[in-house]
Amino acid sequence: MYSEKAYHIADNCRFCWMCRHVCPVGLKTGKEINTPRAKGLLVSMEKRGFEMEKDSAEAFYECMLCGSCSNDCATGFEPPVFIREARTWAAAAGLLPEAVERVLDRVLDTGVMYEECEEPKALSEKINEHQKKAKLLLLLGATARIRRPEMALALMRLLEEAEVDFMVLEKEPGTGSELYDLIGAVEETREQAAACGRQLCDTGAEKIVVLDSYLAEILKHEYPLWDCAPESEILTATSFVARLIDEGRLHPEALSLSVTVHDSPRLARDLKETEPVRDILKASVCEIKEMFLNRELTRCCGSSLFAEYAPKLALLTGQGRLEDAKRTGAGILVVECPQALDVLKMATDNEEKDTGPDILDIFSLLLKAVQENGND
Ligand code: SF4
Ligand code: SF4
Repeated sequence: MYSEKAYHIADNCRFCWMCRHVCPVGLKTGKEINTPRAKGLLVSMEKRGFEMEKDSAEAFYECMLCGSCSNDCATGFEPPVFIREARTWAAAAGLLPEAVERVLDRVLDTGVMYEECEEPKALSEKINEHQKKAKLLLLLGATARIRRPEMALALMRLLEEAEVDFMVLEKEPGTGSELYDLIGAVEETREQAAACGRQLCDTGAEKIVVLDSYLAEILKHEYPLWDCAPESEILTATSFVARLIDEGRLHPEALSLSVTVHDSPRLARDLKETEPVRDILKASVCEIKEMFLNRELTRCCGSSLFAEYAPKLALLTGQGRLEDAKRTGAGILVVECPQALDVLKMATDNEEKDTGPDILDIFSLLLKAVQENGND
């Protein structure tokens, strides 16, 4: 049933309370079930012959696979390993929560987690300008294309400003990222990843710059393990743009702003990338007020996928991260992943009074700094 590794981790976590204070979901709900320990206990009960039930299946989806628990664990255990496998078994046993099932069906049918798949006209027009073959492919991801086009547009304008020759696919394939988080590394996930890998290969791109941190993580980590990685170099958008500044191809003006940074867990913890966003900010802004939980200690605000099937929980986790940002006193909260931008904007829209920092993606902020310089 579960892998030996998953059982081993669950059997250790079920006796342990040590990371309960870092789970962004547990911190907001205050429920025992939202701790890695309780989830480990559920897995070890299954090992001992208890069948998974609907409510325990639900508990495995009250987790954002953010890795905060693993990062805090002094003994190196990773609860997301058994949580992902539990999801595989929940799906196989027909115990998926209804909302999860709805999102899963969409991703399997269309490759996209959203019901509405239309991208705004301004973005379609910009994408149409970049249909000619180029050595660099920009992969935007569904969240940027459908929900946060301002971030996609800002990044594309920055690349144009730096005279980077790049192409964007008219229609991007599903990468398997959502399936991997919803039902684990099952056949459907690997098939979608393999099809995506082939399509990326067919573009002939030497470099692929990825905007969405969830897509960057799966392309860089899981694709090589699943033997479907394209030969192209995979780069995150933040690291690529930081390099453009370093090479003198973008010239931002100092904006004299006070900002704080939300590190996306898949970038900061899984890909160990924390500095490019700060390098971009240092080149264009005066002061970074770090949150208490920054870099690899970051607290997940929720992903767009989590918000699609658990909107109330995502609202709570988004508000949790906004509280961290407010405590810094910074005027702007800067984010580097479209999925974080989407959840944090949703959390701000639901605040009773608008007392927190403005939320801005790193590329819109840099574009402003570059355009200000051009206006001098
Ligand atoms: S991940 Fe580590 S700290 Fe957290 S419950 Fe498991 S063993 Fe304990
Ligand atoms: S991966 Fe994140 S959300 Fe899931 S149990 Fe660990 S800390 Fe909580």
